[in-house]
Amino acid sequence: MQIETPPQHKPYEKPEGERRGLLIVNTGDGKGKSTAAFGLALRAFGRTHVHGKQVKIFQFMKVPTARFGEHRMFEQIGIPIEGLGDGFSWKSQDLEHSAQLARDGWQKAKAAIQSGDYFMVVLDEFTYPLIYGWLEPIGGIEAVVQTLFDRPRDVHVVITGRRCPPELIELADTVTEMRKIKHAFNIGIPAQRGIED
Ligand code: ATP
Ligand code: MG
Repeated sequence: MQIETPPQHKPYEKPEGERRGLLIVNTGDGKGKSTAAFGLALRAFGRTHVHGKQVKIFQFMKVPTARFGEHRMFEQIGIPIEGLGDGFSWKSQDLEHSAQLARDGWQKAKAAIQSGDYFMVVLDEFTYPLIYGWLEPIGGIEAVVQTLFDRPRDVHVVITGRRCPPELIELADTVTEMRKIKHAFNIGIPAQRGIED
């Protein structure tokens, strides 16, 4: 078996910068954006004894009553997860209602970020309200970027969703693209309990 040769050089220099809250983006068309964000929330929650703060998850496209595996588990361990949407789909009858929910949701998420009460705030599927232009009446992407830029410096923010706007990518510290190589859905396998929800 061929094993990789050990690296001759360190892959990066010794970090010289200060620790601070990060803006982390998980985007792309492959599976894993939300689940990776949930993994980070779990990791952060596991260090509550160090930072002494809460972790909060907002979901922009899920309904408040969603009961996926993550909702059940986060409820058990005590990580608040809040659906802000109406389960928008392309069939949605009332786009203006979805848009209004997204605006209300952003005001809530913004308040949580600005409060400084949270070690980490996850904005799951936040790219969609931005792409659909739902936040335009309240300042759009520019206002979002300004809020994130001005946030208390120790607050970590994690954003997920496909087609992340370039303005957010530009501002972010860590950006990962989940690229689809294969997805079971494409060979006709339906969504499964415990894997997709
Ligand atoms: P997950 O929540 O599983 O981490 P995700 O957040 O990366 O997925 P979303 O774009 O939010 O992906 O998609 C939500 C649902 O769509 C999930 O059930 C996921 O399995 C499914 N999905 C993700 N990528 C693809 C794809 N390339 N083709 C079809 N379905 C996909
Ligand atoms: Mg997702």
